[in-house]
Amino acid sequence: MQFVDLNSSTRLIREKLDARIANIIDSGQFILGPDVHELESQLSQYVGVKHCITCANGTDALMMALMAIDISPGDVIFCTAFSFFASAEIIPLLGAIPWFVDVDEGTFNLSPNKLKQAIEACRESNIGPPKAVVVADIFGLVADYESIKQICEEEDISLIEDAAQSFGASTQSQKACSFANIATTSFFPAKPLGCFGDGGALFTDDQEIADRLRSIRVHGKGQNKYDNVRIGMNSRLDTIQAGILLEKLTLIDEERRKRNANAQIFRNELTACFQFQNIPDESETAMAAFAILMEPGKRKAVEDRLHQHQIPSQRYYPMPLNKCPPMRKYPSDGCYTAESISQSIICIPVHAYLSEKEIDKIIVCLNNS
Ligand SMILES: *Cc1c(COP(=O)(O)O)cnc(C)c1O
Repeated sequence: MQFVDLNSSTRLIREKLDARIANIIDSGQFILGPDVHELESQLSQYVGVKHCITCANGTDALMMALMAIDISPGDVIFCTAFSFFASAEIIPLLGAIPWFVDVDEGTFNLSPNKLKQAIEACRESNIGPPKAVVVADIFGLVADYESIKQICEEEDISLIEDAAQSFGASTQSQKACSFANIATTSFFPAKPLGCFGDGGALFTDDQEIADRLRSIRVHGKGQNKYDNVRIGMNSRLDTIQAGILLEKLTLIDEERRKRNANAQIFRNELTACFQFQNIPDESETAMAAFAILMEPGKRKAVEDRLHQHQIPSQRYYPMPLNKCPPMRKYPSDGCYTAESISQSIICIPVHAYLSEKEIDKIIVCLNNS
């Protein structure tokens, strides 16, 4: 059994992928070729946002988002304590100060109340001026942007949505990647929309930010590549990856539906020993990962039993970000919910190509552990 099954999805579109790649090879337009522009236009339509700017990976996308809003050294950027390291990593990389905010115990997403408290604590301290918040949509569930947006407006700070796990998700029919001043996503192969290497994208409705991002992605270019008007980076999506993504895009809605159907079976069949992420009624998660929570003392035994039956599992995430060694020196509100989740969580396979037999095997194994 695989944790994520990329081969089955490739098999469904193999001929189209081969034809796309062959065309790109023949065209010789490997950097910012026509497939990149076609993809950006399709992605912005899919998400319902005016501008899509593709880039080299999801981490660069976050970095570029902060560069586009002119974050300076010493600025405070709030971020989710329960996420993948990259969500916070780019903050000190720019000389800014990450301030870790705890999450909601049901959704595992950033708690708006805790954000409000953190901003107030920041303003009362002399740590630095509060400038922005990076909010991750954990496991594919869109965060509570209604509340978060209101706080950002009241406090006059920028909002960045890290939708690396939530491409395709929605809440009240509004798609992930459309909730913030700038949204970012990742096309790492195992994400809800994955390519055959690294890739990423940014989304914004703001024309000026979009122009700035297109400049940042090519060495801060002005009129052309050799007219450098700001410090940028080299962060483009390869044309071949864009071609692959255009074909993969035809599969993601069906794959998401299947992952959600599999998750529903687990929710119905697993015993009360396990708890799950709370998905609000108005939300459709991208179900990038299916998490189960249990007594911390039981986790090792559950993992061992899964392992004995060749069922893969992952500890997403084994530690809240404020407890990761390079982050310990930065401010946080304690992040006790994130810590408690990280001690009781594992993620199990939920991919779209799990067979009924495999799903049964996982359920029997967990219910007997
Ligand atoms: C995967 C991921 C990233 C980073 O994306 P890469 O393309 O691997 O650089 C950032 N944030 C979150 C929440 C992720 O899951």
